[in-house]
Amino acid sequence: MNTPPFNLLSLNIREIEELVQGFRWPRYRSHQILKWLYQNHVSDIDAMTNLSKADRVRLKQVATLQKDTLISRQLAGDGTGKYLWRLEDGLAVETVLIPEERRRTLCVSSQVGCTLDCGFCLTAQMGIKRSLFAHEIVGQVLNVQADLPEGEHLTSLVFMGMGEPLVNFDAVADAIQRLTNIEWGLGFSPRRITVSTAGWIPRFPDVRRLGVNLAISLNGTTNAQRDHLMPAVNKRYCLEDLLDACRIYLEDSERPLTFEYVLLAGVNDSVADANRLSSLLRGMRCKINLIPFNEFPGNVFRRPSSDIIDVFQQTVRRRGLDVFLRKSRGDDVLGACGQLGRSASDVLESVPPQSKPSLPIYAES
Ligand code: SF4
Repeated sequence: MNTPPFNLLSLNIREIEELVQGFRWPRYRSHQILKWLYQNHVSDIDAMTNLSKADRVRLKQVATLQKDTLISRQLAGDGTGKYLWRLEDGLAVETVLIPEERRRTLCVSSQVGCTLDCGFCLTAQMGIKRSLFAHEIVGQVLNVQADLPEGEHLTSLVFMGMGEPLVNFDAVADAIQRLTNIEWGLGFSPRRITVSTAGWIPRFPDVRRLGVNLAISLNGTTNAQRDHLMPAVNKRYCLEDLLDACRIYLEDSERPLTFEYVLLAGVNDSVADANRLSSLLRGMRCKINLIPFNEFPGNVFRRPSSDIIDVFQQTVRRRGLDVFLRKSRGDDVLGACGQLGRSASDVLESVPPQSKPSLPIYAES
């Protein structure tokens, strides 16, 4: 158990149960507390009104309730919202809200920076500052939900923000438990949650057990391409191993896979690439999302022309695969896919050295 006073939100369900047991309170009190945290989103222990006043005083002697604070919220021309949150240790992390008709999709971060080094991604340039804790992941969801106009609700969650979620799997899994629990949690259907990975294959079976969707950021059809674009992950888990892991995943999963493919002009956007992609994925239950590169200052990659994108998509489609073009959202506020990190890096620069992170990075698996 943490040393008091600790942030109540930082405890997982088992730790809340131990706390309740330590106080010799009835067992149902754990669910009461969890409901206040996740379903009622209270900001103050005193608001937990089905706990007696004496019990609240007791709880406040050991615990606080600290939420991450909003630093900025930028609204793009297309309605996409980019939130920047300050964490307890002064670091910052970004979350992107993508409204589309009645849908409200939230793109959630799992790390400050990233362990990996994908060349087309702005987050990679930050390096890894640390992995997020489960409550910092859930906090992004709770805080954005609270910011929506009355009557609007988040409809789906995608772990495609800053960071490689499967490197931080334990915290992501803990967060997903809080997000999906129906009795005391946020009650999201696992079908509405997608975890996206650059190819961290040892964790694929764990993702399947969670029952959420898995998306693979593929981006290359040869090892040479993936070594060039995503060296850290591909040198560890090569393309052949990645595709084998995908096939094994599909054997035991009802859900199809999604493959994300960032189209980079002159790098991976030729007809030969499209044909190779089709051959690699033939026979798999999957869909492909094409993401024309979202340019950002200082990056050498360019977005292909609309004609090239169209030919690529038609080539893959003619080979019988489900292939979709993902609209670029929020690129005018650097909120589009691959563009997160600039605002968080600026905050990091402004954090005085003594308050820079001292929290541990979750162990890689
Ligand atoms: S694309 Fe994803 S995995 Fe790759 S560096 Fe960016 S955040 Fe990390």
